Amino acid sequence: MAKIFCVANQKGGVGKTTTTVNLAASLAAQKQRVLVVDLDPQGNASMGSGIDKMGLQQSVYHVLIGMSDVLTARVKSETGGYDVLPANRELAGAEVELVEFDEREERLKNALAPVLNEYDFILIDCPPALSLLTLNGLCAANGVIVPMQCEYFALEGLSDLVNTIKQVHANLNPNLTIIGLLRVMFDPRTTLQQQVSDQLMEHFGDKVFNTIIPRNVRLAEAPSYGMPGVTFDKASRGAQAYMQFGAEMIQRIKTM
Ligand code: ADP
Ligand code: MG
Repeated sequence: MAKIFCVANQKGGVGKTTTTVNLAASLAAQKQRVLVVDLDPQGNASMGSGIDKMGLQQSVYHVLIGMSDVLTARVKSETGGYDVLPANRELAGAEVELVEFDEREERLKNALAPVLNEYDFILIDCPPALSLLTLNGLCAANGVIVPMQCEYFALEGLSDLVNTIKQVHANLNPNLTIIGLLRVMFDPRTTLQQQVSDQLMEHFGDKVFNTIIPRNVRLAEAPSYGMPGVTFDKASRGAQAYMQFGAEMIQRIKTM
């Protein structure tokens, strides 16, 4: 049975999509069966997996509103080695249309039920907001992976997310926990980043992943080739860090 993880942080540009596609590629390279769900109307996870988001007949949008299903709408990422339930701008409409539905927070969870046995991991790339789409992700998930940059305001932003996760846990999804905080775009030479990282460890203890993802230009270049950094340049420091993160996740789920 697949373990389902949301990659969430309501801030934009913190490395959610980079983490989703590179963790997916890393897990796939380590013989795991992976589905990526692109829940962001920007469709960056789809594009970064080599999928032409504009040419889609069906997408996660059609699945959420009940006009398609995961089996029909999923596509293969040839560059990543995993499957993708892709998204494009149409998904922005779901935010409004879903309000009319019963159990509107549970649309994604219900839609994924038929494929749970086909995957080891399902990774959901969330949009940069605590919106109905993100709620659908959180309701479907066993756990949340929170990528964060070790900057001054990072801890402050975390409390909104932690509160949302607590509410979802209490009202909608008792299985939900924060699996861990992932330090990304890390530059160890920056004293401030090192200090924030130390603070994180103090506050969150073993909720902070051992793996640290460095700032690495190859990870930023890869999406323009429609590839995750992990397959774009295997030897790069960024790719190696995400390979290590995949191994850490495989260990983590053994105790879940
Ligand atoms: P989000 O999905 O949270 O908005 P992205 O994953 O799109 O964030 O990352 C934001 C920007 O930072 C992108 O241009 C991406 O290529 C870049 N980026 C992400 N992680 C790294 C990293 N470890 N090193 C260098 N650039 C990165
Ligand atoms: Mg993104």
